Amino acid sequence: MASEVLEIFCSGCGASVARYRKQGTGALLRLYLDRVVAPKELARHGPTLPPLDCPQCGKRLGLAQPGEGNRPAYRLIKGAFRRQKAR
Ligand SMILES: [Zn+2]
Repeated sequence: MASEVLEIFCSGCGASVARYRKQGTGALLRLYLDRVVAPKELARHGPTLPPLDCPQCGKRLGLAQPGEGNRPAYRLIKGAFRRQKAR
């Protein structure tokens, strides 16, 4: 399956939040940490995953997805972010 790198922006302030390698096409619903390209701090995580907030304005962008112990992921909040193909 094809993949592409997306840049994810906060819809509140426009800050770039992450670069993410997405598999396939379609809506971006989840952010699997093992596909996060940058920043490295986001891909690292402890036993509990904190909510994903915009580093610049603090807007909540995602919540830890429950029941994904082996493959931590964030469930993204619709409308809280914008995506764009990274160059
Ligand atoms: Zn923001």
